[in-house]
Amino acid sequence: MRTIGLLGGMSWESTAVYYRLINQAVRDRLSGLHSADILLHSVNFDQVVQLQRADRWDDAAALLGNSAAALARAGADCVLICTNTMHLVADPVARLAGVPLLHIVDETGRALAAAGLHRPLLLATRYTMEQGFYTDRLRASAGIEALVPNEADRADVHAVIFDELCQGIVRDESRDRMHAIIARGIAAGADSVILGCTEICLLLDPDRLACPGVDSTAVHAAAAVDFALADLAQKEAA
Ligand code: GLU
Repeated sequence: MRTIGLLGGMSWESTAVYYRLINQAVRDRLSGLHSADILLHSVNFDQVVQLQRADRWDDAAALLGNSAAALARAGADCVLICTNTMHLVADPVARLAGVPLLHIVDETGRALAAAGLHRPLLLATRYTMEQGFYTDRLRASAGIEALVPNEADRADVHAVIFDELCQGIVRDESRDRMHAIIARGIAAGADSVILGCTEICLLLDPDRLACPGVDSTAVHAAAAVDFALADLAQKEAA
C-alpha cells in the first residue's frame, strides 16, 4: 500500500472527515483490520486564514509547499491539500512536494463528467467562487462550466463556512438558506451542485439535494484511496 500525505487542518473539522472516509474505504476494500497508511501535517488554520485575508498567497504557497515537501521526505507517496481554497496555490505546492499532488478540482470534474453533469452550481469560499483558479481548471480539465451564486449568496456561503462550519457549528437555518441558494441556482440553469468546500458536507448531504450533488471531500478522499491501493489492484488483476 502506498502512503497518503495529507495537508490538513484547513479546517480540522474537514480533515477529520478525510481521515474517516479514507480509512473506511481501505477497510471496505481490504476487509478486517486494514487501515490506510497516512502521514498528516495539520496546520494552524488561523495562520492560513490570516494569509488569505492579507492576499499573501505566495507566503501561503511557501507554507504549504514546505509542509508538502516534509511529508514527502517522511515517506508520503502523494500529497492532498485537504481544502478547495488552498488549491489556489496547488501548482507551487506540487513543485515543492516532488510527489504527485492529487488535485481536488480534477477529481471533482471527473465525478461530474462520469455522472453526465455539465452545469454545476459551485458552493465554496469567496476565494474559490471568485478567483477563477477553480472554475478555469474545471473548464480546462473536464469541459465543465460552473455557475456561481449571486453576490449576496456568495457572501452568505462564505460566512457559513468560516463563522460556522470551520468552527464546528452546524445550524438548521444555514442549511435552509443553502437549499434556497441551490434552488436559485437550479432556476438559473444548474443541473447539479458542487460541495466545493471541504466542510459543506457537514451541513448538506449531497444525496438529499434538489438536484445531484458532488461532494469534493468524498471524491478527493476516494482518489487518495485509489492511489494508495493502485499497486494492489494491479496485482489482483494480473
Ligand atoms: N475547507 C474549505 C475549502 O475547502 C475552506 C477553508 C480554507 O479556506 O481553506 O475551501
